[in-house]
Amino acid sequence: MLIVQKYGGTSVGNLERIEEVAKRVIATKDAGHDVVVVVSAMSGVTNQLIEYAEHFAGVQPQSADMDMLLSSGERVTSSLLSIALNSKGYKAVSFSGDMAGIITNNDFTKARIIDIDGAKMKEALKDGKIVIVAGFQGATKDGDTTTLGRGGSDLSAVAVAGALKADLCEIYTDVDGVYTTDPRIEPKARKLDKISYDEMLELASMGAKVLQNRSVELAKKLKVNLVTRSSFNNNEGTLITGEADMEKPGMEQALISGIALDKNQARVTMRGVVDKPGVAAGIFKKLADKNINVDMIIQNTSHEDGTTSLGFTVPQNEMEAARNVVDDGSAKSIEIDSEVVKVSVVGVGMKSHSGIASMAFSSLANEGINIQMISTSEIKISMIVEAKYGELAVRALHKAYELEK
Ligand code: ADP
Ligand code: ASP
Ligand code: MG
Repeated sequence: MLIVQKYGGTSVGNLERIEEVAKRVIATKDAGHDVVVVVSAMSGVTNQLIEYAEHFAGVQPQSADMDMLLSSGERVTSSLLSIALNSKGYKAVSFSGDMAGIITNNDFTKARIIDIDGAKMKEALKDGKIVIVAGFQGATKDGDTTTLGRGGSDLSAVAVAGALKADLCEIYTDVDGVYTTDPRIEPKARKLDKISYDEMLELASMGAKVLQNRSVELAKKLKVNLVTRSSFNNNEGTLITGEADMEKPGMEQALISGIALDKNQARVTMRGVVDKPGVAAGIFKKLADKNINVDMIIQNTSHEDGTTSLGFTVPQNEMEAARNVVDDGSAKSIEIDSEVVKVSVVGVGMKSHSGIASMAFSSLANEGINIQMISTSEIKISMIVEAKYGELAVRALHKAYELEK
């Protein structure tokens, strides 16, 4: 088999951990498999590098320099792992994203992969080598280094697995797999044996950082066999798979598969906006043109003075940019609140059952938690609440849907 293994920040957090990773890679190689390893930077390194840049530049610049800086963390771990493996008598070679043939657009700090030329990796595998690839990075056609957005090593792993037609892509992290919610928030959370791509995509997009959302999207598209598991034990992980594989004969599928908490949210409220056709279109077009990700939107019209108030959420690191865009005189006042979080309930069972949403609302009401905004999709309900109630809301919902069972 050809196996792609990705090790996250805590899994390569120090030299002892890299030693442990080397042992696991060797065990896989000794079992007769071809192995490609994708590594993250040591935990905390990417954040530290961003802080260094902010020392000089204030707000994080989305520049080629920034990506030269950020890509360095993953190069350290990939080369160290290769050195460790070679010192143990195993043939290994380390590649930057560029050397591995990962070609991206030039959207620095959040580049998209447009192609992978796997020739160099295939050549090394043919020579019996273990291939180590620095995650989270690639290069433009012109050779400029790029990075893929936070958590992007998951995406590197899935993309490499897809390009090399790997039999399996294992994501090693610090939890045993995908749980019904973040086990750091709810210790009663339960590990799932399987979850569908679509549910995992919603959970990841709604803040469950165990897998980066773009990696799940790509895994679904390329039909990559994806497993998340722990690098700290040998427990079986969670298989992320197509919906058809989820059905157990003679059994009903779980209604709800998980709850996610997204703390990276800010709410922008524009009051006194003129209420006439085209106003909202104009505002959201300007935000889209600046590449600002607007998520939930709410509008309240006041019949007395013919104005409306418009609220929407954006990621926290885009809130100042959003303020600059909407502060053009079209509203009487603009207020920004970053003390909010988004709690989401995800499950394919929602498609065929009623009463799921009302249960979410009443369980938050029972805890005295006010819901500021709501949005739903076929398999998801999201609610914006005050930040201080976020974890309480997760636990209340986890209990209401009996996810511990
Ligand atoms: P890595 O550095 O290995 O990429 P991350 O920190 O990005 O790891 O992701 C793993 C973390 O995701 C866990 O430590 C856990 O706290 C968090 N997490 C959030 N939601 C979930 C969930 N539903 N299941 C498992 N872990 C989750
Ligand atoms: N090191 C990068 C980050 O912290 C990429 C990753 O770990 O996946 O975002
Ligand atoms: Mg991660």
